[in-house]
Parts: sequence; structure tokens; C-alpha cells
Amino acid sequence: PKGALETGSIPRYVRINRIKTSMKAVIQDFKQNDYQLVEPQNISSFVTQSKNSVDKKFMCDKHLSDVLVFPAGTDLHDHPLYVSGHILLQDKASCLPAHVLAAPSGSHVIDACAAPGNKSSHVASLMNNKGKIFAFDSDSKRLTVMQKLMKKASVECVTTRNCSFLEVDPLDVKYSNVQYIVVDPSCSGSGIVSRMDNFIDDAEDKRKKEKRLESLAKFQLSVLNHALSFPFVKRVVYSTCSIHQQENEDVVEAALKANGDRYTLDRPLPSWTHRGMAVFPGAEKCIRASPDQDYTNGFFVALFVKKESEMEQKR
Ligand code: SAM
Repeated sequence: PKGALETGSIPRYVRINRIKTSMKAVIQDFKQNDYQLVEPQNISSFVTQSKNSVDKKFMCDKHLSDVLVFPAGTDLHDHPLYVSGHILLQDKASCLPAHVLAAPSGSHVIDACAAPGNKSSHVASLMNNKGKIFAFDSDSKRLTVMQKLMKKASVECVTTRNCSFLEVDPLDVKYSNVQYIVVDPSCSGSGIVSRMDNFIDDAEDKRKKEKRLESLAKFQLSVLNHALSFPFVKRVVYSTCSIHQQENEDVVEAALKANGDRYTLDRPLPSWTHRGMAVFPGAEKCIRASPDQDYTNGFFVALFVKKESEMEQKR
């Protein structure tokens, strides 16, 4: 198979919640319940292997240490480990931002657009539930869903607040130890395989879509710029589940133009070969993910790092 689009669907990814369990324990559990751990060279051969096999197979993800891969269509929604919050069902691409952020245990983190909480709970898992995550979202219903997820996953270091992140004061003393920010704002969702919207019928639809992308990109840039204005921040991860350049590389380029005196783009996950479109110098430092190349939903991640000279001044 050439990719997930051709095979019809993407694999089932399982993220281990380190707050409740470990990779070793989860592997053991699946093995004891008729699943066979295989070690294919890559995910493409896993897909081929498991496609016509009656055996239940799974593998460890090649990039992310807390992710397991199961054949597409594996339904784990009733699995005891999922019901108890030991594992989460989260697309691999959406697991990239927390790893790219790399906030050590004990850090203070802001999740600017947090609900329903997948990234917050992942950051908390990687921080061993120690530190503080200030999670904002302007949608109270989505925040209610988030609070349930935090409870299920036993996340205790997250405080949620129902407000626009754009109204959060960067100079508030509460945030004076925040060195890490996740910016995962509303986007077109055009990377989500089940709602790929690339089939535009007429000129009117096309105009509407362009207008929507324009306004989304404007919003995304304002959230990203606001995150970059927090005085003590060291790393800001920007992500979308969009495939459009306007919401991805273009937003990053504009943010760099506005903040390039204080921030540079970093190149996270060196082993990840699928990179940003080369539309400005350095854009290839960003990460892209797609069904046909990476067996994930369409996704984009960029990492802004505060310049050393700026850090010196703040010391
Ligand atoms: N990071 C979340 C996760 O991993 O589960 C998904 C976030 S979703 C892509 C974008 C979120 O941004 C939505 O929940 C939406 O309500 C929220 N949002 C939109 N405008 C906002 C604003 N001005 N301030 C904070 N959150 C906002």
C-alpha cells in the first residue's frame, strides 16, 4: 500500500497515559489478551502485514515513545484500559505537539486553546503530572468535556479557565514562570481524513472557503503572536490539523516577521522526514504529516524557540 488514503483508513493509534501506567505494562496487557507484538521495519510493512491477517497484531511507534499502533478499524472504545483512562485513542499526528514542546516535569505551561484537552493531558503525562498547566478555552461546553477527560486520565496539574486566550494578560504574575506554550487554535480541520474537503464544486464555494481560510489564518496569527508576547516563554509550539499553507507555513512566516528579533524556528524531531513546504527560508524546519506519507491525519507543527540573547537579558 502507498498510504492510508489508498488503503481506506489510518491505523488506530493508542497513546499510553504515563500518569496511570507504563508502556511496558500496556504491552504486557495486550500480549496477554491475544495480541501479538510485531517489529516490522516501518509502518508501511505493518499495514501490509496486518491487512490480510487474522491475528491481532500491534507495534511500537517508530517516532513516539508513548504510542502504539494497531490495524485500522481496531475498536478499543470498550477496552478496559481505555475505559479506565490508562490509554487514550489519539491520532499519532496529534501526539506530536506535546513531544515537540518537551516541557520537563515541574514546568509551568499554557495551553492557549485547550479543549477538549488531548494536548493538555498529553503534556501532563510527559510531565508526570508535576508542574502547572494553565488551560484556556473560549467554549464552555468543550471545557466541560475537557474536565471529564482530565478526571478520567487522573490529570491533576491542569487548571482550566473559560475565556479567550487573547484576553489573558502576559504580565500577570500568575504566568511569570510560564516557559512553554501550546498554540493549537481552531482551524479548517481540512487534514482530518473523514472530513477532507478538497472537492470544491463551484466558484461560490471556492470564494466562501477562501474567505473562511483568511479569517481563520488571521485568528491563528493573533493567538500565536499573543503567545510569543509572554515575557518568560522559551518554547512555543504551533499546530493545526489543516493541510492549507495559509493556516500553516504562512502563519508561521508572519509570526516570524513580527517576532524574529526574539525567536527563531527550531527543527524538532530530526528523524521525521516530512517537513514544511519550502515557501520561505526555514519553512522546512516545520513538521507536516499526511495520510499518504505518514499514515496519520493531515497535520502541521512548528516550534518557536526564544533566542539565547533574549534569555540572557531576562536572567
Ligand atoms: N488542543 C485541543 C486538544 O488537543 O484537544 C484542541 C483545540 S481545538 C483545535 C481549538 C479550540 O480553540 C476549540 O476548543 C475552541 O473553542 C478554542 N478557541 C477558539 N477561540 C479561542 C480563543 N480566542 N481563546 C481560547 N480558545 C479558543
